[in-house]
Amino acid sequence: MAAIGFIGLGNMGGPMARNLVKAGHKLKVFDLSEVAVAALVEAGATKAESAADAARDADAVVTMLPAGEHVRSIYLGDAGLLAAAKKGTLFIDSSTIDVTSARDVIMAAEAVGMMMVDAPVSGGVGGAEAGTLTFMVGGSAEGFEAAKPLLEKMGKNIFHAGQAGNGQVAKVCNNMILGISMIGVSEAFLLGEKLGLDAQTLFDISSTASGQCWSMTSYCPVPGPVPASPANRNYQAGFSAAMMLKDLRLAQDASKSVKSPTPLGAQAAQLYALMEAAGADGLDFSGIIKLLRGDV
Ligand code: NAD
Repeated sequence: MAAIGFIGLGNMGGPMARNLVKAGHKLKVFDLSEVAVAALVEAGATKAESAADAARDADAVVTMLPAGEHVRSIYLGDAGLLAAAKKGTLFIDSSTIDVTSARDVIMAAEAVGMMMVDAPVSGGVGGAEAGTLTFMVGGSAEGFEAAKPLLEKMGKNIFHAGQAGNGQVAKVCNNMILGISMIGVSEAFLLGEKLGLDAQTLFDISSTASGQCWSMTSYCPVPGPVPASPANRNYQAGFSAAMMLKDLRLAQDASKSVKSPTPLGAQAAQLYALMEAAGADGLDFSGIIKLLRGDV
């Protein structure tokens, strides 16, 4: 069983680290939150004194941090993970971050003889707890093969998306589709309602016609047609509008970097920014229908 350093024990990292402990790995963990560390120590992990300490004698290190600036600051520099770890250590960054930071950090890791992949996830806190996350992995074939057995302890679907950073590319592209499609479904259900068409009837027709998509059939933004969707529990997240806004902004950064037009992605980011400005970004992202209704 491997000695693993795990840094970032928040809503996602906490349960992911617990699944590695359950699988029999020896974990040394670090987080700025003492409470988060204590919970993992209770589950069987050892406490590290710093991020670098978690990496020092590890075979592999997993990081699950908020954003690109955290990843850069933890990995790079004299006190960073890359300086502390032994040559050949495998690094897996599962944070959702900008493509440029992901590629820069992986290049820096490879330059000093480490293996590193970006491996952002989808599946949310429920998926992290159940060990059923989807991992989108960018990096060398060798890095992917080395990371896979660990990722399989935390997730169910593990995809190699290609070169370094491509995990992040897959993630922002997927979530841009999701954000745009949720707005489209919300507009349509609101229009149908105002024109006198019952939501269930529209669902029955559209879910078997060409308007069908995941935002409608798994996460329908009106209460009723999909009992498990957040609309049935006052839009309690789920996947919050704040998280969607973060990912749409990452998609915008990425699209600017390669001058790829994303007019609807830009508009979707603006609409979710209005949710944020209204203080409603803690709602599930399907709560965008409330913004369109004028309810937030
Ligand atoms: P979180 O805020 O709950 O956890 C982040 C953790 O990182 C916190 O415990 C924080 O104390 C720690 N941290 C921050 N800076 C640190 C540092 N310098 N050293 C050590 N620890 C540090 O966030 P989360 O929900 O766990 O999300 C983590 C990542 O996963 C984010 O990039 C997010 O976009 C992505 N993600 C989240 C979800 C979700 O549903 N929550 C789903 C998919 C992807």
